[in-house]
Amino acid sequence: MSNIITGSCQCGNIEIEFDNKKVISAHHCYCKDCQRSTGTGKATILYIPKKHFSSNTELKYYESIGSQGMHIQRGFCENCGSGILSFAKEFPRLLFVKAGILNDSSWIKVESNYFIDSASEWSKPDLSIKSFKGNPNFMSNIKAILKSL
Ligand SMILES: [Zn+2]
Ligand SMILES: [Zn+2]
Repeated sequence: MSNIITGSCQCGNIEIEFDNKKVISAHHCYCKDCQRSTGTGKATILYIPKKHFSSNTELKYYESIGSQGMHIQRGFCENCGSGILSFAKEFPRLLFVKAGILNDSSWIKVESNYFIDSASEWSKPDLSIKSFKGNPNFMSNIKAILKSL
């Protein structure tokens, strides 16, 4: 049975959907780029294969260089500025979708924290889940994920 999850940006121009059975994992990211792009202490992201994700329109992208030298494409709504998702140009088949845009996110189980060293005092990571100083073995994780798709 599929369980279709929907979400949108603040102005409603961008609507997205995916089957939550296709979500690989969920993470909090405390890197400085996520803090800047969300304006908060962390971003909560879902790993979703691109082929299982759809949006009604094209996003606008801002490119930044990730900690591993990869070209991170940060997609947002051109009209209202809401952050929607990101992906590495080097692995465009895997999306990192922001959990805050979903209409119902109650089903999400966050499994780990990334980049806890840059977390702020006012937004401390919950260390009872797996916590990493970076994004652990990003390349090998992605390769393993892609093999399993
Ligand atoms: Zn919008
Ligand atoms: Zn981040």
